[in-house]
Amino acid sequence: MSEALFADFQPLIAIATTPKAVQQLQPLGQKLIVPPTLIHLDDVTPYQGSLKEYLASVWHSHHSFVFSLATGAVIRLIADLLQDKATDPAVVVVDETGKWVISLCGGHQGGADRLAQIIARQLGAIPILTGAAIASDLPGVDVLGVPFGWRKGEGDWTGVSAAIARKEPVEVMQSAGSKLWQDHLPPQHPFQFQKSASQGRVVISANQDNIQASIPQVKWYPRVLWVGMGCERDTSQKVMEYALKQVFKNHNLAESAIAGIATIDIKGDEVGMVQLCQDKGYPLRTFTAERLAKVKVPTPSEIVQGEVGTASVAEAAAILAADRDQLVVNKGIFRLEGEKGAVTIAIAQSEREYTGRTGQLYLVGTGPGDLTQMTPAAQSAVTQADVVIGYSLYIDLIKPLQRPGQIIESLPITQERQRAQRAIDLAQWGLTVAVVSSGDSGIYGMAGLVLEELADQGWDGITPDVEIFPGVSALQSASARVGTPLMHDFCAISLSDLLTPWEVIEKRLQMAAQGDFITALYNPRSRTRTQQIFTAQEIFLQHRKGETPVAIVKSAYRQDEQITLTTLEKMTKSEIDMLTTVIIGNSSTQNYANWMITPRGYLGFN
Ligand code: SAH
Repeated sequence: MSEALFADFQPLIAIATTPKAVQQLQPLGQKLIVPPTLIHLDDVTPYQGSLKEYLASVWHSHHSFVFSLATGAVIRLIADLLQDKATDPAVVVVDETGKWVISLCGGHQGGADRLAQIIARQLGAIPILTGAAIASDLPGVDVLGVPFGWRKGEGDWTGVSAAIARKEPVEVMQSAGSKLWQDHLPPQHPFQFQKSASQGRVVISANQDNIQASIPQVKWYPRVLWVGMGCERDTSQKVMEYALKQVFKNHNLAESAIAGIATIDIKGDEVGMVQLCQDKGYPLRTFTAERLAKVKVPTPSEIVQGEVGTASVAEAAAILAADRDQLVVNKGIFRLEGEKGAVTIAIAQSEREYTGRTGQLYLVGTGPGDLTQMTPAAQSAVTQADVVIGYSLYIDLIKPLQRPGQIIESLPITQERQRAQRAIDLAQWGLTVAVVSSGDSGIYGMAGLVLEELADQGWDGITPDVEIFPGVSALQSASARVGTPLMHDFCAISLSDLLTPWEVIEKRLQMAAQGDFITALYNPRSRTRTQQIFTAQEIFLQHRKGETPVAIVKSAYRQDEQITLTTLEKMTKSEIDMLTTVIIGNSSTQNYANWMITPRGYLGFN
């Protein structure tokens, strides 16, 4: 079971009260809590006292709870613990037969809907989700900004959600943050992006303006404001907090839209600043005097230049952190009576918001085509991702796995490198990105391109986090359709010379033929590349008999599947194209009643 899939839901506790329930939840590979009577079972941790008391003791320190217990019992257990949907954990119930996985509460903000979908896929069960947004194929308005790390503001969340559920027009006023979500809404969505008569409003901005609302309204704050800060040594945290309040109030900006604090490297250990960042969850970004000195700023200071070697700290650091050449607020100096020190503050607004998340790249093999041939882990990875990137044909094949609000980017078949770069860019920004390939992603697929590109960019091997989900490759699915041609030593050769010189391919064909390897030919023929398959046939005929069995499998496990069993001398008479895999048997391979069989043993093999 892939741990990466559960990363967003940790700390997670799974609770089982009977041996059967333990069996039910064990495949999830999560921490399993059982009554003290079941401690003789493996891999479980007993709880102390009554289950109700135990739950109360871990309720606030855990993000998710999975129960294998009757729904009624779970409701009674958690009833007193529930507070409100913004803070309640995700609660998921798996029924005793393992057929249903119920998202009981914390569906949107707690992530229970997503968790239930992942668990259902792992267990081969059906997820039961009852939230209104799910029914309408829309992302919940209360989780809209989660992928981008937006902070949730004030507002009538229930009122706006209700308007959306009723399919009434809801106005969106977005002046900051990513608009990616807007491009991936279903056709009949209720959002209006121009001012219009509506029954609800979603405001997405970095401003603190109080728009008078006669209709329900909610606010999201993308974290786009970088606060450049300079200060005297040992300036108290109170002065900094006071300064921030003042500046944000005076300029009508929202503190919830703060991305982080930026300063000069020698201030990286300034106690007040470090503490402020820790308290508020801000990253502290530091720059050298040399870099800061190169930035053009509105208010340079000779005194600062003399002290630290750059004419600006606050303004230059804000500009660098936001990657913009302008400020939204020029520097101001603040002191507070009775408190030590003085602080300078300037603010710049970045184009792209700070997500505060560690990006993940899922490199996913979707198998030959039919969803039943795709592993449950790979399916979960697709459902779990914020963004799914792939070639349009494969994206269509996995449509049932898509989740409302997901960003789906399909790119033409020729743009593999761009696809890899786009995925890396989004993951570096903090999103969870699934890159899908047919078959196995690591066999003539996208996984290699992504890892190569990461290595080119000097990746540290850790961030973004990479997880590869294997899939059934074309040689396996083609083989399964015709029998057991790959029963002995085999190899795969791609006839595509787009990324490999033809001489190399020809040499490998020679060696495979000579070595009596069963050979699966990928990319055997395209509209423009028609000769290669004839050359391959000629080379094999130099080493194998004309009647050697050959399988030609087109679109295995897809609707237009076509299978031909033929021989080496006749193979080029059949239709072979880019959706085909050709398997050439070895000298022992036989056809029997329309089954292609390569013997398993070496005995009798020459
Ligand atoms: N990553 C894929 C291979 C991609 S290269 C995998 O592991 O299967 C593309 C080639 O794969 C095609 O030209 C064809 O030779 C083969 N292929 C992919 N899907 C196939 C299918 N459903 N049936 C037969 N061949 C297939």
